[in-house]
Amino acid sequence: MFIETRGNDGKNPKKVQFSYAILNPSASFGGLYAPCDLPKIDENFFAKMAKKSYKELTLEILKLFDIDIDEDILKKALDLYDGFDDKNSPAPLVKVKPDLFVNELYHGPTRAFKDMALQPFGYILSYLAKKRNEKYLILAATSGDTGPATLNAFENKENIKVVCLYPDGGTSDVQRLQMVTSEGKNLKVVGIRGNFDDAQNALKSLLASNSFKESLKKQNINLSAANSVNFGRIIFQIVYHISSYIELIKQNELKIGEKFYITIPSGNFGNALGAYYAKKMGLPIEKILIASNINNILTDLLTTGIYDISKRELLQSTSPAMDILISSNVERILFDKFGSARCKELMSDLSDKKFYKLNKNELDALREDFDAVYSDDEFALETIARFAKDGYVLDPHTATCIKAYETIKQKNIPCVICSTAEWTKFAPTMLNALQNDKEKYSDKEALEKFSKSLHVKIPNSINSLFEKKILHHDVVEKSQIEKSIVDFLKG
Ligand SMILES: *Cc1c(COP(=O)(O)O)cnc(C)c1O
Repeated sequence: MFIETRGNDGKNPKKVQFSYAILNPSASFGGLYAPCDLPKIDENFFAKMAKKSYKELTLEILKLFDIDIDEDILKKALDLYDGFDDKNSPAPLVKVKPDLFVNELYHGPTRAFKDMALQPFGYILSYLAKKRNEKYLILAATSGDTGPATLNAFENKENIKVVCLYPDGGTSDVQRLQMVTSEGKNLKVVGIRGNFDDAQNALKSLLASNSFKESLKKQNINLSAANSVNFGRIIFQIVYHISSYIELIKQNELKIGEKFYITIPSGNFGNALGAYYAKKMGLPIEKILIASNINNILTDLLTTGIYDISKRELLQSTSPAMDILISSNVERILFDKFGSARCKELMSDLSDKKFYKLNKNELDALREDFDAVYSDDEFALETIARFAKDGYVLDPHTATCIKAYETIKQKNIPCVICSTAEWTKFAPTMLNALQNDKEKYSDKEALEKFSKSLHVKIPNSINSLFEKKILHHDVVEKSQIEKSIVDFLKG
């Protein structure tokens, strides 16, 4: 069962099941849904799972959560991992140094870790909508990776429509092409004149707009969300952290029960929340190391206890998926550690004063599980070049983890870093790093040059983008978004 992070307002049920929480992800007082209890995993579990596949492990964990979805549906949802590069190992763990391992989470159709959760989540949500004979609109604002993964997951699904807003000029060419060439008749992609914050704000004001809600109601359409405020994504993001540990055991790098570090390039904190839940369930994580870029709000929180956005502006970096100041899933950690009353208080402070401060005990409690460090673009580019010369290619997001590995990892035990995207989505930055220049390359040119000089492959799904027909041409002012969506829903 699931409960609300800011308490219950009397209009929603007090406890809800999984299907309710994923179809209606917004909870009382603007809060989120979080699990009442977490199942426990122990040494016996790890020993048993060392003989199972990734899909079998996922199914076991979903069963431990006892969610209200039939097993045959879960199995079909998990079959989508068969479409990843290696169907037996959708999230391979690669050894890069004696104590450094990369959990490669980007081997799905859209080449970012968002596929790990959105592929099965999309299947389950569509199944529920159809079974209940309800229609859903899924709105997504994207800085580049959530958009393609959401569109891919819901393409041609019955009873579901997806509208995806992206900042025009704010994504890579590859990311934009992944969206604007989407073929499903139920998909609509709209570019916004503005940055990612503008796209996200546009989405929020739409959700608050009475005329918009009226027009959805008239057409019997419900709203849901596909970003990581939806617990349906988080549950799949617990599994790959557990699988990385089981891989370390299989590869004889650790004995069952020994500890390891997990390092995560973080933005909205969904990936890190998955690791936190895994740790609480019993995964022997020494600490979860959070890597930020220059938008270092999470590093501030986890090292000083202060979350202050009153004097901050969003800065652009070479790791755009981490260019974020309001990190939604921190709320679920605050709730889990300090309860709903305190969580609500902190979240109100954030929205009213753009600021909150944890007391010393609270900060200590966070630091039992987390530590954090940030790095700038210069570090990312230098790190990409350094690792590429040693034969391993890190994308600009994953590169930020190396700072954590090199500076805040304290014990001499294995460290797993989560690789959240394939280099092919950020080819111009990769080539700048490799050649130590500041030239402006097109994605196509940079892809070819980078892959030639390092002999690394470009997957077909990326190469073919440049030949595909562009089907979504809309780039609109903020004031035009509502009309554009309403027209799409009517048509
Ligand atoms: C979404 C994303 C992140 C941030 O993940 P969160 O779960 O939001 O913290 C990091 N890197 C890449 C490449 C992403 O697409």
